[in-house]
Amino acid sequence: MIHDLYQEVLIDHSRRPRNFRLLKDANRTAEGYNPLCGDRCIVFVKEKAGRIEEVGFQGAGCAISTSSASLMTEALKGKTVAEAEQLLQNFLAMVTQGRTDPAALGKLAAFAGVREFPVRVKCATLAWHTLQAALQNKSEVVTTE
Ligand code: ZN
Repeated sequence: MIHDLYQEVLIDHSRRPRNFRLLKDANRTAEGYNPLCGDRCIVFVKEKAGRIEEVGFQGAGCAISTSSASLMTEALKGKTVAEAEQLLQNFLAMVTQGRTDPAALGKLAAFAGVREFPVRVKCATLAWHTLQAALQNKSEVVTTE
């Protein structure tokens, strides 16, 4: 039952990604690439006084990478950079080590199951690694390799 619900969330976000747009006034941007699957993603963040005011993404990828980026942007809006870093660590802990904190992750807990598919973990984390690069103002393309 819970798994069906999660699956619906993923399908919905892969078909109708939220915040799928270029942010012209973004002051933090990074590009990510997952060569294993061919997923590409650019993350745009408008950060002001340590808070994420707007966030968007563009790119092309599989359903997992697209829905992950979409849910990530929804989760980040209005968060401080420190809260975003914490969410990133929680997400990575969930998909790589199986440590799940539903209270902290909300809808993002839908990705708990990808841990069983190591190739898919890279799809699910691409947007997050790209976000991290954007927040750290790294200019080189991030790859999941
Ligand atoms: Zn993928």
